[in-house]
Amino acid sequence: MNKISVFPGSFDPVTIGHIDIINRGMPLFDKLIIGIGINSQKKYLFPLERRIAWLKKIYEYEPRIEVESYTGLTVNFCEQKGAKYILRGIRSSGDFEFERAVSQTNRVLSRNIETIFILANPSLAPISSSIVRDVIINGGDASPFIPEEIEKLIRP
Ligand code: ADP
Repeated sequence: MNKISVFPGSFDPVTIGHIDIINRGMPLFDKLIIGIGINSQKKYLFPLERRIAWLKKIYEYEPRIEVESYTGLTVNFCEQKGAKYILRGIRSSGDFEFERAVSQTNRVLSRNIETIFILANPSLAPISSSIVRDVIINGGDASPFIPEEIEKLIRP
């Protein structure tokens, strides 16, 4: 059976925390689609094209990983792609409560899709895109939080 999973997020920007979840999730699936959700209400620091390009660069030699953007419900995107799994990372009890509500809502919307959670690596749990954005906006060195393949490409 072809096990396809979607890892949804904004990746604004992608961090080593995201990469850890993707790399640890990969052995569970045949194919993983990194889904960059476009929310018209949300303001992003980095344009969609750059966020896609960074993820494609990081996984250019991993044929089992695809990078795509989508609008609308994540479960609809999963159905469109034939994905039966959603992969999410949990960093804290706050993440857990939020993710539980989203996952249970998704279960009502689509009975066929299961969300798989992976707990953050303790050393990476404090890393979030929003804090990394603050570091970048304020002229700090964000390189410890960014995958090395794209460290030099990330400038606001
Ligand atoms: P969203 O816009 O949905 O919050 P993000 O791009 O911030 O998306 O994150 C996508 C996924 O990656 C989420 O499941 C989030 O919990 C997870 N994630 C983000 N940072 C980390 C981290 N440092 N460790 C583990 N998981 C993380």
